[in-house]
Amino acid sequence: MSSSTPHSPAADKTEAPKPSNFLRQIIESDLAQGSYATRHWGGTPGDAAHHQDGAIDPSAIRTRFPPEPNGYLHIGHAKSICLNFGLARDYGGVCHMRFDDTNPEKEDQEYVDSILDAVKWLGFNWEANGTSHYYQASNYFDFMYRAAEYLIEAGHAYVDEQSAEEMRANRGDFGKPGIESPYRGRTPAENLQRFREMAQGQHADGAMVLRSKIDMAAPNINLRDPAIYRIRRATHHNTGDKWCIYPMYTFAHPIEDALENITHSICTLEFEDQRPFYDWLLDRLAEGDLINTPHPRQYEFARLNLTYVITSKRKLAQLVNEHHVSGWDDPRLPTLVGLRRRGYTPEAIQLFAERIGVSKADSWIDYSTLEGALRDTLDTVVPRAMAVLDPVKLVITNWDALYGENVLDDCSAPIHPHPHADHPEHAGRRSFKFGKAVWIERSDYEDVPPKGYNRLYPPQTSQDGTTKPGNTVRLKYGHVIRCTGAVKDAAGQLTEVHAELIPDTKSGTPGADAIKVKGVITWVAVADAVPAEVRLYDRLFTDAYPDAGGKDFLSTLNPNSLKTVTAYVEPALGTGGAIAAKADDKFQFERHGYFAADRLDCTADKLVFNRVTGLKDSWGK
Ligand code: ATP
Ligand code: MG
Repeated sequence: MSSSTPHSPAADKTEAPKPSNFLRQIIESDLAQGSYATRHWGGTPGDAAHHQDGAIDPSAIRTRFPPEPNGYLHIGHAKSICLNFGLARDYGGVCHMRFDDTNPEKEDQEYVDSILDAVKWLGFNWEANGTSHYYQASNYFDFMYRAAEYLIEAGHAYVDEQSAEEMRANRGDFGKPGIESPYRGRTPAENLQRFREMAQGQHADGAMVLRSKIDMAAPNINLRDPAIYRIRRATHHNTGDKWCIYPMYTFAHPIEDALENITHSICTLEFEDQRPFYDWLLDRLAEGDLINTPHPRQYEFARLNLTYVITSKRKLAQLVNEHHVSGWDDPRLPTLVGLRRRGYTPEAIQLFAERIGVSKADSWIDYSTLEGALRDTLDTVVPRAMAVLDPVKLVITNWDALYGENVLDDCSAPIHPHPHADHPEHAGRRSFKFGKAVWIERSDYEDVPPKGYNRLYPPQTSQDGTTKPGNTVRLKYGHVIRCTGAVKDAAGQLTEVHAELIPDTKSGTPGADAIKVKGVITWVAVADAVPAEVRLYDRLFTDAYPDAGGKDFLSTLNPNSLKTVTAYVEPALGTGGAIAAKADDKFQFERHGYFAADRLDCTADKLVFNRVTGLKDSWGK
């Protein structure tokens, strides 16, 4: 992980998508030079001979997304997914969906299923030229074993029986070369015999390891004879008890790439120091004609760091297991299932990935960039609706005189102010009633208006005894009213706001604008409002860098990250309405922001909405 200090990112929301980046330049140059143009593809992953039997590879490039199935994907993985699948799509290639399941522990079908779901949900697939490029690294164990024996026979690997502590001590450090193991001089025949004994279960876990034989004085410590196979008696979910030795990740990963004909193996910066070993290993295997050539190349980019968010799988698991959140799909989590449940869309996440781009320098991305991408993708395509989240009753005191007590007036509003071509149904209108009593936001009334407050307040008497009338406000899509007073309960809590309707001011009627008002407020009529549960989510942590510098991230949990309220929403969102809410539908609640009908809990009988984000960026404030 990055050791750079967090800095305040430039929150440039209007920045155009980056047309190019260093990875695109590398790929374009490889395509121009035909670096991989004559390489063959055997139709499935395999060794050099297998690929030579095939035709010229029909995919111009091959990338891969290689998660370990040991957790749920998060927004950082989404960056990698959009990058790898996006590059393959843009350059006539394919991105392999590969489970890096060479570690027998901590892997689970639940994770495999959720990862596949997440990648598909984001809008990608691994089909190309009629083939599904879905692979499991554990299917390559046989080849990996063969590659290890080849290295031993060629004098490039040896079995080391030093203890783990001795090995660590003899590795040296940046200023000090390592010390060669006393077992380093064994002959290939001796090593082969020992290695076969390891594989046959004749030695205890940890008794010895197979190491590559490179250079104990190499300035890059990763080249000081790194271990490539270890003894580990564990049942693997795919290969069962066939193996009691397992390859190390640094050995397995380059081989997986090579067998799959990957061209550009894109990973995060922490693997930069591993690249010399990646190349060393594949060069040796190519010398032995074991793998197809030219072999894949590794390129590193900066991982995503997002403010207010934790992307460590271990820490996310802790939040879930200790019930700080409701589960992996808690809408406050940056997991893809969580973001999806919150109401984030694949389009928004793809736009976010495009906007943040890729670079070789670690940096922090402000959370508002993700929210901005959501707003910019939803704004043009989601219906508008009115909702009152903290309702207090407004009574029109002259209603009976003007209309008659139980009379209701018909009002309407456009479903979308500028309907999108893909959504002709948004050209219609939503209708609702106006009556003697309507729900308004509690915060839309003040006894004494703070400076600049343009919403409802009653007549004000100043110190010199002059009286200013109560404020006039438009009820959006309805009439103009003048506030006359309010009713409080014994505890001083506001229970009703009173106002008079000013005749001939109904929106859309001639002369409606004759009275100028500074405030416009949203509302729903008591007569036809529909109750809804609204989950008001806020950031999960109060600190922008919750786990930076070894901080205890639990101590920065935001106690107010979820507030559930009973709101009133307009009737068009209810059953049979013009914009009836179905699970997972998204809306813009006017003045409030973007909301999603909860995927699991919202039903026709009980509306449940999640606040995805407000209308404006409020994170920096
Ligand atoms: P672990 O610590 O368990 O290895 P991981 O986050 O590296 O966790 P993987 O399943 O190995 O998880 O990740 C799959 C791919 O996603 C890798 O190629 C990895 O580089 C990439 N990835 C993971 N986190 C991020 C991130 N924050 N930004 C960009 N890419 C990421
Ligand atoms: Mg990893």
